[in-house]
Amino acid sequence: VLILAFESSCDETSVAVVKNGREVLSNIIATQIKSHQRFGGVVPEVASRHHVEQIIHCTKLALKEAQVDYQDLAAVAVTYGPGLVGSLLIGLMAAKAISWAHDLPLIGVNHLAGHIYAANLVAEIKYPALALVVSGGHTELVYVKAAGEFEILGDTRDDAVGEAYDKVGRMLGISYPAGKTIDQWAHEGKDTYNFPRAMLHENNLNFSFSGIKSAVINTLHHAEQVGISINKKDVATSFQNDILDILLAKTQKALHKYPVQQLIVAGGVAANSGLRERLQQELANQVELIFPPLRLCGDNAAMIGAYAYIKYQKNQFASLTLNADPSLDFEYCNNNESLL
Ligand code: ATP
Ligand code: MG
Ligand code: FE
Repeated sequence: VLILAFESSCDETSVAVVKNGREVLSNIIATQIKSHQRFGGVVPEVASRHHVEQIIHCTKLALKEAQVDYQDLAAVAVTYGPGLVGSLLIGLMAAKAISWAHDLPLIGVNHLAGHIYAANLVAEIKYPALALVVSGGHTELVYVKAAGEFEILGDTRDDAVGEAYDKVGRMLGISYPAGKTIDQWAHEGKDTYNFPRAMLHENNLNFSFSGIKSAVINTLHHAEQVGISINKKDVATSFQNDILDILLAKTQKALHKYPVQQLIVAGGVAANSGLRERLQQELANQVELIFPPLRLCGDNAAMIGAYAYIKYQKNQFASLTLNADPSLDFEYCNNNESLL
């Protein structure tokens, strides 16, 4: 079963062809980072325009690289939320047009379900599994009960972890997105600062990252005001260690309450090398860890094709009235949200 998948929820235009939800035949990713860098973050209107410019070309490339034609396809899948509405709409329009023109069933995919199912492209998910979703907009511990059945065990009360990285990075003079550079610096500095590790000892699976973000920013402001110099790499090391303490503690807690065979680490921040090392050191003896390769951690359409296959098997198709839902609820995946 070949599925053509579209992802355009944020600042990557991506089109992929995925076989049986497990095998990536092509995964074209056109990133717009350069256009947004000078603004220090993603500008929605700019993002939408880029998607319009890129999507047809990406589609042609994806089909060409996979060496398939429209008649070889079983379905067309597309991210319909959460994300930027204007950006989502471009992918939706492309997918719907192809669905209509080639008489292919349409599958609407939740972006976060996609991030989790990137795992299926590297190893077979064994249910129930636990997923730590860490991205630019989300930080969640998700219990994956069975194929396509999700339960959110905890999430962030304020900023997402990737967002905290990007905001701290901006204060450190790193261009957007800052996660990768902070991660590098974290390996070069010393852990000399103690930032607040919010909710670390609270008996729940929720997160809060706005406090640590503000603490870092205050530290930098204060140093500037009183004229003391700051070693940015030490700030990065301290910040990352504190973040990882929190992610590790909450994941441990979740594993304790929900014993599973596999821990899936998903989303852009899953690319973090410190996170990979810590999880490997502290959890590898308890669970099988699935880390998608870097290209499948960030936004990409292959992960959308991977999850779409689950819905394909359940005949959960969408109609051509499928609309973008910028704040699409994750738990909604439990229900038959696709039967729109
Ligand atoms: P969402 O998936 O929640 O809608 P998004 O799609 O914008 O948000 P992703 O593209 O999944 O988020 O991830 C982007 C985030 O990952 C950015 O915040 C970026 O700084 C962060 N990131 C990327 N690489 C690293 C890294 N090595 N360490 C920490 N953060 C990283
Ligand atoms: Mg992104
Ligand atoms: Fe994402």
